[in-house]
Amino acid sequence: MTTTQKLDLPRRAALRTALLQRQETLLASMHLHTQGASRVQHARDVLDQSSDDAPARAADREIDLAFTDHERQELADIGLALQRLDHDAYGVCIDCGADIPLARLEVRPQALRCLACEQVAEGANG
Ligand SMILES: [Zn+2]
Repeated sequence: MTTTQKLDLPRRAALRTALLQRQETLLASMHLHTQGASRVQHARDVLDQSSDDAPARAADREIDLAFTDHERQELADIGLALQRLDHDAYGVCIDCGADIPLARLEVRPQALRCLACEQVAEGANG
């Protein structure tokens, strides 16, 4: 697989920074949900004293869903994009091998696919 698109060092550094910042934001968001879960745990302890734990289990489920699959996926994509940046494979579509347009990378630095493949992948995921 050859890279025809030149990502110069300053550009790569800027994209890496953008990725790390986004990663930090997502991790902070996940941390927030974790703290939220411990608050729910406390409420649940109180609740447990007077009722069965079915409603509490439902609350746990909601907290778990609060950090969405989409955010989880984005975090995973960012990790992968950072790895690819290290291994010089960044900016190339993982599905078809085409260069991902720089304009797209600037908007979405964690993008692992070109727009066409992304649409196919998203369609497949529902
Ligand atoms: Zn593609």
